[in-house]
Amino acid sequence: MTSYKTIGILGAIPQEVNGIISQLKDKTEQKIGNRTYYEGYINNQKVVVVYSRIGKVAAAATVATLILEFKVDSIAFIGVAGGIHPNVKVGDVVVASNLVQYDMDASPLRPKFEIPLLGKTYFDTDEQWSKETLNHIELMFGLENLHQLISANELAKFNITTPNVHFGTIASGDQFFSTSEQKNNLQAQLPEVLCVEMEGAAVAQVCYEFDIPFIVIRTISDNANEEASFSFQSFVEEVSLVYGQEIIDKMF
Ligand code: SAH
Repeated sequence: MTSYKTIGILGAIPQEVNGIISQLKDKTEQKIGNRTYYEGYINNQKVVVVYSRIGKVAAAATVATLILEFKVDSIAFIGVAGGIHPNVKVGDVVVASNLVQYDMDASPLRPKFEIPLLGKTYFDTDEQWSKETLNHIELMFGLENLHQLISANELAKFNITTPNVHFGTIASGDQFFSTSEQKNNLQAQLPEVLCVEMEGAAVAQVCYEFDIPFIVIRTISDNANEEASFSFQSFVEEVSLVYGQEIIDKMF
């Protein structure tokens, strides 16, 4: 891949990064602004790993700290999301092509979803890095490889048989989607959106403003409707944590 000196790896919740932190060599840690930043190496690549906590403000503050204090020159966000597009199923992975803040609305002064004074609605991820990541995930999803990571029985608990990887738009905002009404409303306004989460587009905006290349990778944990909170905890620990560890290991 394009070589970066120091990569910031970010999740929202501990379960999204604990597996990655356990892979670090020569690990050191530093606390700043209520976050713990873990520095170390994965396959000789220098990384700084942190969980931001949930929501756009928490994520934006954490990314700014990674850039200004730790001098990272690229950022990878890894976590879970609710599926919005009908083709996107629990256990699939979405790699973002671009991200939008669906709860930004300064209309009628500016078009809905546009960030005022920045004049942008969609933030693009790094295309080459995203495509390389897509290829790694496609290989990971080859059934022989996948079953070495997680058994078919384990996957069946979450009704996952042959997961897919998608490339497209991710929408972010400060809401957990747990009703069909929220989901239908978003689909009607932004039909291209593949999944919804609470941090990615904030990370994207900060990276855009600092001119830092970034990618966002999200495993689908739920269908962003009434059943969304049902198996969240076990899913992140048994499926997305394992995917995340493997994706990051193959990245370097
Ligand atoms: N179980 C956690 C809450 C998780 S909130 C707790 O008790 O604190 C959901 C997290 O996963 C957010 O970081 C968000 O980015 C992502 N996410 C997963 N499914 C989502 C959904 N349906 N709607 C919004 N965000 C979702």
